[in-house]
Amino acid sequence: MEVLAPAGSLQKLRYAVAYGADAVYAGGKLFGLRAGSSNLDEKDLREAVNFCHQSGCKLFITVNIMAHNRHYQALPSYLQFLQEIGVDGVIVSDPGVFATVQAVAPAIPIHISTQANVTSAASAAFWQKMGAKRVILARELSIGEIREIRAACPGLELEMFVHGAMCMAYSGRCLLSSYLNHRSANLGACTQPCRWEYFVTEKSRPGQEFSLEEDDHGTYIFNSKDLCLYHRLAEIMAAGVDSIKIEGRMKSLYYVANVTRVYRAAIHALENGKEPPQFLRDELDKISHRVYSEAFFDGFDSIDTQYHETSKYIRDHQFIGEVIAEGNRSATIAIRAKFSIGDTIEFIFPDPSQDFTWKVTRIQDDAENDIDFTKPNTTCILPLKKSIPLNGIVRKKL
Ligand code: SF4
Repeated sequence: MEVLAPAGSLQKLRYAVAYGADAVYAGGKLFGLRAGSSNLDEKDLREAVNFCHQSGCKLFITVNIMAHNRHYQALPSYLQFLQEIGVDGVIVSDPGVFATVQAVAPAIPIHISTQANVTSAASAAFWQKMGAKRVILARELSIGEIREIRAACPGLELEMFVHGAMCMAYSGRCLLSSYLNHRSANLGACTQPCRWEYFVTEKSRPGQEFSLEEDDHGTYIFNSKDLCLYHRLAEIMAAGVDSIKIEGRMKSLYYVANVTRVYRAAIHALENGKEPPQFLRDELDKISHRVYSEAFFDGFDSIDTQYHETSKYIRDHQFIGEVIAEGNRSATIAIRAKFSIGDTIEFIFPDPSQDFTWKVTRIQDDAENDIDFTKPNTTCILPLKKSIPLNGIVRKKL
């Protein structure tokens, strides 16, 4: 089963691959959702394809906006460019875009985006007949429905989300952001107003706001929990799902790296007949997240997808930097957040068994002068008295 990780930038893509992704998905500057992530320009896209293929990894590119007439001017040449550089698939939701890929870039496999809301075997079979290689299933499906789709569509690759943020609407079929901010979710510019706090007013009492809750926590009536299917991976694998997807192109490289290695290691355990270990599941609590839910996995009778008390992230570890050079007995770190002499910090690596904690007794700036604390957007050298593996990330417990 493929582990498919998000890559909101070239740097995150490199970390996703280093931390065990079999495939990554990214957006170009054009036509993809998540316009807020930095995305990849043409030079980046070429570099990304080469890097992925040299690493034995696949690269899928999102072209999943609901396109208007104006978008079709530039679309054909963009798709031909993606074909020329050899991307492994495009993720599409709009039938017009689908037809354009088939017409101008027929060598690119087409994956049907979760934005297309494939919720049935009939819908999956339709896209398969039209020529899609893969369907990314709607997040609103139960495992029973997924098994039925698998049985009905042999030969069609099935991908499903296993981790990350959820929409309160059928993925992306939501006009809140368009209406309140003039920024369309279906053009990749959602401002997440589902996370805002709402009140009700009675028609004849304008200005008087009433909370819908019975306590004083506020009213986040649209606020979805985050998806986490870590404990359901065995069932997903047995159902014949080909690819498990991690949401989060807007998230940090620490988030991408840590979630990717957790799911990679869990799949590895299952492939070797073992249960995915709890210590890996605990890592998913060390990234910034909302309350977790298994959402629709067991069907609509048991759904528990909304969290009404707050829309704030739960965060008990802070990403403080990435190791950009490993010395013989030291690490050079690009600093994201401050740490000081006396702090205990944690190093994580692609192989979780190599993680370690470190009590900071000495820090040097990049000119090797001793300093007491670090500043964001600088680099520092940390004498470690031992060698460390490549691609380390540093975090601190809050
Ligand atoms: S406002 Fe919320 S539910 Fe609507 S598209 Fe954006 S993230 Fe999804």
